[in-house]
Amino acid sequence: MSQAEFEPIVYLSVSAQEELVPLSEARVPVLDRGFIFGDGVYEVVPVYAHDGAHVPFRIEQHLDRLARSLKKIGIDDPHDAAGWRALIERVVAANAEGLADGNALVYLQVTRGVAKRGHAFPANAVPTVFAMTTPLRLPSEAERAKGVRCVTAEDRRWLHCDIKSISLLGNVLMAQHAAERDAFETIQLRDDNVTEGSSSNVWIVKNGELFAPPRSNKILEGIRYALVEQLAEECGIRFVAREISEVELRTADEIMLTSATKEILPVTSLDDLPVQGGKPGPVFAALYDAYQRAKAREFEQFDLTRRK
Ligand code: PMP
Repeated sequence: MSQAEFEPIVYLSVSAQEELVPLSEARVPVLDRGFIFGDGVYEVVPVYAHDGAHVPFRIEQHLDRLARSLKKIGIDDPHDAAGWRALIERVVAANAEGLADGNALVYLQVTRGVAKRGHAFPANAVPTVFAMTTPLRLPSEAERAKGVRCVTAEDRRWLHCDIKSISLLGNVLMAQHAAERDAFETIQLRDDNVTEGSSSNVWIVKNGELFAPPRSNKILEGIRYALVEQLAEECGIRFVAREISEVELRTADEIMLTSATKEILPVTSLDDLPVQGGKPGPVFAALYDAYQRAKAREFEQFDLTRRK
């Protein structure tokens, strides 16, 4: 079976009724608050193929963020970390044939559940849980060598961007803004300062130093945020979290995007102007290599626990 035609087996729990079914057969009642209000949160975990196994990357951090998102919107966490890990393993195992030896993504979503329509939290709704795994296609070497084109736009989203909410209309419009301009991503600016992409964090380099907007309610703290911070230290690159003005973005030596599906990607064109030489820079190269080493370390760790 080729990955392109692979139909995932997904996990769905509605009103505490669990099932593992082919994606096309999974059904959610229309009164699910995810459908009616966008009342829920999600998580996306990269799961790398390694030596005949699938290894979730930075799983602890992803599950911590899911727990934080749930807490921030007052949904009782349906699982503890061990429960979520087991669910991820279950969904990956159910799709072993389709995923074969390829990398995967696990998508997790929790909504407040099914209830009579009314804005405030319902009394007895049971959270709906959905888990799906699909093949992960990382950017190719050629794509990384070329870098990507980005455009800019004003950030008009709400001010709870720190919650990984399924209410993604603002992000959807930003992704469409890029698509209509044949660009890879939209870099958003709020009050003249960089916030983030439609589905990525943004980094700039100036004079060999790395900068990113500080953690705040104006951005989603990507799991790669702390990781890149750590990798920069490992590479001896000074990192400063502070506001980045529009002028600083436009005159940066390098611009990068990070996310689970992009890992680290260099931006080589911004609003149709080349970013410096229009080629990926040395800080990107160092951080990308460090990222691959971080993956290798998690694989080693996995091998150690597997052997026990
Ligand atoms: N910001 C937004 C708005 C995102 O959707 C994402 C991708 N989930 C990120 C940042 C990067 O987060 P991560 O590194 O966890 O993929």
